[in-house]
Amino acid sequence: MLTNRESTETDGGLKQFLVQCEGCSFEHTADDRDEAMAIGTDHQQKTRHEVVALEVPPALRRA
Ligand SMILES: [Zn+2]
Repeated sequence: MLTNRESTETDGGLKQFLVQCEGCSFEHTADDRDEAMAIGTDHQQKTRHEVVALEVPPALRRA
């Protein structure tokens, strides 16, 4: 069993956001929450679609 955790300390730590629309296939990634909100709000105002912003954990970005 591995006990050395040095390499898992800080792996960037950056969160990404994925903006998805429930009304169409619109999908967009953003580097922070403000950007995700801006993208989502913009699309929502243009299309009246329901938009959700998902937080993407760094671990999933490698998969
Ligand atoms: Zn849409």
